[in-house]
Amino acid sequence: MKAFIREMFSSVQGEGPYIGCRQIFIRFEGCNLSCRYCDTGRAGENSACRVETDPGKRVFIEIANPLSVRDVIETTAGNFDLGRHHSISLTGGEPLIQADFLGELLPELKQRGIRVYLETNGSLHENLSPLIGLVDIVSMDIKLPGTSGCGPLWDRHLHFLRVANRTRVFVKIVVDDLSSISEFERAVDLIAAVDAGIPLVIQPVTRGGRCSLSPHRALQLQALGSGRLRDVRVIPQAHVMMNQL
Ligand code: SF4
Repeated sequence: MKAFIREMFSSVQGEGPYIGCRQIFIRFEGCNLSCRYCDTGRAGENSACRVETDPGKRVFIEIANPLSVRDVIETTAGNFDLGRHHSISLTGGEPLIQADFLGELLPELKQRGIRVYLETNGSLHENLSPLIGLVDIVSMDIKLPGTSGCGPLWDRHLHFLRVANRTRVFVKIVVDDLSSISEFERAVDLIAAVDAGIPLVIQPVTRGGRCSLSPHRALQLQALGSGRLRDVRVIPQAHVMMNQL
């Protein structure tokens, strides 16, 4: 089994409640959605996976895609000190579109005692289900249709969150000043229907390195979420501010 991977690097997590944790990032190629604020670029543009060999120095080598599980294990172990990282972040794109590959990779990571942190758009519950016992933390998006431009995914998100709630999960909702209040409230209701203790992160859209959310709107959304959920935080994309990958 092989997978198309865009890049691998060691950096700090820049989103959500694990902000600042050192992670190895494996960024998978491709996504089943097409959000209007996507910052990962179009799939299929990279026939090679780039690997930052000296973290933070922006020196990269390239490895031909697709990569085997063995390629990934050897590359990460050979370039990064696994023991000094909080976890491996599987990100994208959407990692779960290459679920068969994850089915081989995750047992290898668990065998080595490495925590698995999955960043996902929360739409492919069928693919998550067989893997959930091997994932330590799920960072799941709920896409507001008006903000993402993806179309409604409410049923898919609900199914996904039920599966993800079998391990540690938090939900992230990307918003800007034009985001629909009714869509936001629907997302909050969806989370509360599964478990009101699931943390919610309100993440402002980043445009030109700045947050696209006014102070008033951020506090308004947080207050709305806190009416139904126990842990609601407003957290911007910190890696942008830190100039981290
Ligand atoms: S789900 Fe993520 S990777 Fe996929 S299009 Fe949306 S923002 Fe981009």
